[in-house]
Amino acid sequence: SGKSFFVDLTLCTACRGCQVACKQWKNLPAEKTRNVGSHQNPQDLSSKTIRLVRFHEERDANGKLQWNFFPEQCRHCLEPPCKSIGNMYCENGIEQDPKTGAVVMNSRTSGIGDKVTSEELCPYNVPRMDEESGQWFKCDMCLDRVEAGLLPACVQSCPTGTMNFGDREDMLALAKKRLAEVKKTNPDAYLADPESVRVIYLCTAPPESYNGNLLASIDGSKLMKTAQAKSGVNRRD
Ligand code: SF4
Ligand code: SF4
Ligand code: SF4
Repeated sequence: SGKSFFVDLTLCTACRGCQVACKQWKNLPAEKTRNVGSHQNPQDLSSKTIRLVRFHEERDANGKLQWNFFPEQCRHCLEPPCKSIGNMYCENGIEQDPKTGAVVMNSRTSGIGDKVTSEELCPYNVPRMDEESGQWFKCDMCLDRVEAGLLPACVQSCPTGTMNFGDREDMLALAKKRLAEVKKTNPDAYLADPESVRVIYLCTAPPESYNGNLLASIDGSKLMKTAQAKSGVNRRD
């Protein structure tokens, strides 16, 4: 139950409409960027860029140039490690909306500060800390829009049908239907961690070809064990 996104990477043209729409709706400032010879801008997620279209260029087995696009955002895990781990350091700074399943980081996450890294909080290395306040930021599923019956800004703005949003059952069904269609011409196609996240990507290239953590880097329970050990050490300090 709850909501989910289905992100059909076979349709993404990297127009970045979703990245801009996210910034506009969330009122997040532009960041100073520099040309590093890639169309990707900025180079990484940040407290001010919570949605980022990643570009990855490589040559395939025949030497043909391939470009893979990966519009990255928080996956809204069904059992979010960031919530269990982050809340060891702050009082309910990370909450899960019971109706939609959205995982939301609030201003109380300033209590987490730099005590942990993004990789220690999240198997997808998504959330980012604001250097000044110590508060953590990431996508909140546009919960304000969704509660008002609107689509998330990124979904609303996507002109190609890459971004889809709705009831989880419907999105899972759509993902499986599209996977079967795409597999006819690309037998290697797969869905990324569909059973554990609410942002389900349909992919055709291997995970490492998407320039980012497409799949969970580590099992959530392992992440929890490491965090428990670390927070115990911190408490003894
Ligand atoms: Fe939390 Fe990361 Fe999962 Fe998002 S993707 S809910 S930040 S653990
Ligand atoms: Fe940004 Fe909203 Fe899309 Fe999340 S759901 S990436 S906050 S536009
Ligand atoms: Fe891709 Fe749609 Fe975002 Fe454009 S708006 S970059 S097509 S996901």
